[in-house]
Amino acid sequence: MRIGRAAGVTDTGRRRLRNEDAFICEPPLFAVADGMGGARAGEVAARLAAAALEEAGAETRGEQGITALIVEANRRIWDRALADPATAGMGTTVTAALVDESHGTVAIGHVGDSRAYLLRNGVLEQLTTDHSLVAELVESGVLTPEEAERHPQRSAITRALGTEPTVQVEVLTIAGEPADLFLLCSDGLPTMLGDEEIAAALDGAERDPAAAAEALVAAANEQGGEDNITVVLFELAEGEAPTEEPTPAELQPVEYSPVENRPVENRPVENEPVEDESEMEAPATEASKTSLSRHGAGPGGRGVALAFIAAAVVIAAVALYLGITK
Ligand code: CA
Repeated sequence: MRIGRAAGVTDTGRRRLRNEDAFICEPPLFAVADGMGGARAGEVAARLAAAALEEAGAETRGEQGITALIVEANRRIWDRALADPATAGMGTTVTAALVDESHGTVAIGHVGDSRAYLLRNGVLEQLTTDHSLVAELVESGVLTPEEAERHPQRSAITRALGTEPTVQVEVLTIAGEPADLFLLCSDGLPTMLGDEEIAAALDGAERDPAAAAEALVAAANEQGGEDNITVVLFELAEGEAPTEEPTPAELQPVEYSPVENRPVENRPVENEPVEDESEMEAPATEASKTSLSRHGAGPGGRGVALAFIAAAVVIAAVALYLGITK
């Protein structure tokens, strides 16, 4: 599995003066943060969250990885709010997705009422449950989903990043399928558009993430654009994650007899005789990706090595023969 096309758009909407949302669209990490707080504190909180998440390294993986990132983001916002009274009480939502291409999984971490959706086989499914007052009232049967949509307190959230010294992160993992289209968004989108309208906009854009992102923002604004609107979309695709492996043509230097003409790039054998098989199976961290692309050939590389060794033996034999017959 690999990540296909991806796009992110944020828009102030039609009613707000400022945009307190932030997003990340940096494969394999995607996230949306919706800040809140007086003055510009909401923007500060959302950007602190995004900056903390962006420090994800190649070793950051799965639910544990996404949780650690969000916990660290929480700590930074909390510390800043303590140090800077102008930002006291600031907070942000975060909904983040971390794709593991080698395992074909998508880990989602989530705090607040930004959402993750999945469009698979034409069906749009909301993956996250809002940490909001109205979601809890729907859960306990006090409100119907329709009443929740119109409730005056519908934007009140019950969990946020940065408002407490610790945070409880909700995580889930999706086993990806080719052509899955994931959508992360701030509440400014679903407040304005129902699931059917979101699905229609995705279909109308023929599932192209960039076109769909623009279409969703435009549709939310057409419905009033009462809040900041942020959408991040990414698709999964069949196949391996792209690496810098040599193409098959480069791996077939069959004719080696004129030794000095052998292609320079096909000489991995001189410094690194034969790669360890276990290395090829190592998790695809950044380091091992480099190593995979460097060795690239696998059994083919071993064939090249054997060809060189055979050539060397022949040359040595010829030299020996010439030496003997002189
Ligand atoms: Ca919002």
